[in-house]
Amino acid sequence: MKIPKEMKRYCPNCKTHTLQKVKQEKNRGKNKTHTMTKFSQIRMKLRGLTAGLGNKGARSRGAMNSWKRYNKKHSKRADLRFTCTQCSKIWTASGKSPRSKKITIE
Ligand SMILES: [Zn+2]
Repeated sequence: MKIPKEMKRYCPNCKTHTLQKVKQEKNRGKNKTHTMTKFSQIRMKLRGLTAGLGNKGARSRGAMNSWKRYNKKHSKRADLRFTCTQCSKIWTASGKSPRSKKITIE
């Protein structure tokens, strides 16, 4: 999917439509961005980063490399950042960003 380099979008700071530069942020995954979810806490426990009681289902889960997206969605939403050219504030549109395997900004 092709995305233009600059877009005219609404800036909540300027309260008007301004020209905004598009940049794709590196996808850090759910474990980095959502550290308090149950799954990422289990992952941290398995890695030995946190202490806790019990094995939290570690034995029944199998190897960590088999936890990959099986029978699930195969594409992630792109993490796009929009920088306003007037006030240089950065906005996100994570909910509205496109879902595609390959995204090129041109
Ligand atoms: Zn602005």
